[in-house]
Amino acid sequence: MSRHDCYTCGAPNAMQAFKGRSFNVSFKQLNRMVHSLAGHECTECAEIEFDAPSAERYARAGDELIEDAKRVMADEMKRIRRKLHFTQKSAVQLLSGAGTMRSAAMNGPKWNHPNPCLY
Ligand SMILES: [Zn+2]
Repeated sequence: MSRHDCYTCGAPNAMQAFKGRSFNVSFKQLNRMVHSLAGHECTECAEIEFDAPSAERYARAGDELIEDAKRVMADEMKRIRRKLHFTQKSAVQLLSGAGTMRSAAMNGPKWNHPNPCLY
């Protein structure tokens, strides 16, 4: 076990070696666990310092998470665009057949519940 001073809080010999730990990488609402990480942790301020391979894996998980987030946002944008397109189309239909649609909307619930007092 090697110990050294903490770079963050300066506590002497406070960095304690660890290995086989799992850390969660989070970005926006996305989370990803990275397992079997090794490095040092400060016993004073809990600062984590990964060893080189662990830092690499942790960073890669973060990059993947950002890629995932971008994909999720792109999908969401597509979905919204589709929805907007649909809404534009229905707006046109609504304008051209407003009478029929409005009367259906107004009469529908009355047909389903002829006597509202019973419900
Ligand atoms: Zn520290």
